[in-house]
Amino acid sequence: MTEFELPIRQDLIGHTPYGAPQQSVRARLNVNENPFPPSVALREALALAVSSASENLNRYPDREAEQLRSSLSAYIERESGVRIGVDRIWAANGSNEIMSQIFSAFGGPDRSALTFPPTYSMYPEYSRNSFTQLLTVDRDINFEIDVEEASQAINELRPTLVLIASPNNPTGNAISLHDLETIIQCACRTGGLVIVDEAYAEFRRDIDSTAVRLLDKYPNVIVTRTLSKAFGFAGGRVGYCLTSTPAIVHSLMLVRLPYHLSALTQAAAITALAHDFELKEQVSILRAQRNLIVSELQAMGLDVAPSDANFVFFGTFPNRHAIWQGLCDHGVLIRETGPDHWLRVSVGTPEENQFFLDSLREVIRSSR
Ligand SMILES: *Cc1c(COP(=O)(O)O)cnc(C)c1O
Repeated sequence: MTEFELPIRQDLIGHTPYGAPQQSVRARLNVNENPFPPSVALREALALAVSSASENLNRYPDREAEQLRSSLSAYIERESGVRIGVDRIWAANGSNEIMSQIFSAFGGPDRSALTFPPTYSMYPEYSRNSFTQLLTVDRDINFEIDVEEASQAINELRPTLVLIASPNNPTGNAISLHDLETIIQCACRTGGLVIVDEAYAEFRRDIDSTAVRLLDKYPNVIVTRTLSKAFGFAGGRVGYCLTSTPAIVHSLMLVRLPYHLSALTQAAAITALAHDFELKEQVSILRAQRNLIVSELQAMGLDVAPSDANFVFFGTFPNRHAIWQGLCDHGVLIRETGPDHWLRVSVGTPEENQFFLDSLREVIRSSR
């Protein structure tokens, strides 16, 4: 073949694509999925819905996903007790796509986004892809956002976007509504939008503690959520956002790709949302299992971050990679992410969690 130098963007050279191992091991606890597969009843309903949507597959799907957005509105009212109209809801292929649309619409070369590390590892990528400057204010030693420091940074740097994952990934802790309101008020004065990434909201310990409750109170808030975690629909690729104003949704429509959400995805998601009652039990099992993992890890003498999510962040290990590898050799896959010396484990089925805890005890014992 003729020699050819690929004209890839300079700033992408040498980067590795986002991703975690997808090995099939006895306990796959590394990407915070719901470990329970869909029920037989849901699978049958999905097959019917997809079959029925297929009748019109020669046509483009509903560009605005009206029916799905109205299902999401009803779900949020059931889940959070707040009514958000369809004109303030938007859906896409995972909340990752929502976030990328937010950066396309509100980011850009002359703009900046403020984040609070350690946090979700995709935020730098959205910034890079949209040429938005990434600003950071580190969390304190308890992984909490220092609200005073955050406000000062917002006042001085005037970021267009302020990104707060709550519950935060990989640390698991949520921000209090009080602190969140302080930051939202501050950003409102400097013309910034606050994005609250609530991918793990359904696992929160305080049911009233969701930013969805602030959407009617402030004009500059976007809450992103997903069906990938509590909903057990990671393979379906559906995420959404709830916004303060229809103007925000309109802005996202300007940058979305035409027909971004397939007819099959829309039909499947509507069906999954109608079966949310099946989730209640799963989520309560996962919550109880999370609390069990936290107390078992503490009983081993480890440091454990408080968790409002379906994963637990724990440490500290002088050589975390050795612990990760040791677990891997046992057939337990967890995540080596975030600050050094810490590890993250997703909550699995009760059997998987027990196996993880037993394996960890062995790995720690043999590493001494
Ligand atoms: C998992 C996760 C998401 C969800 O991504 P999807 O694209 O919806 O699968 C979003 N934000 C955070 C912080 C996450 O951990």
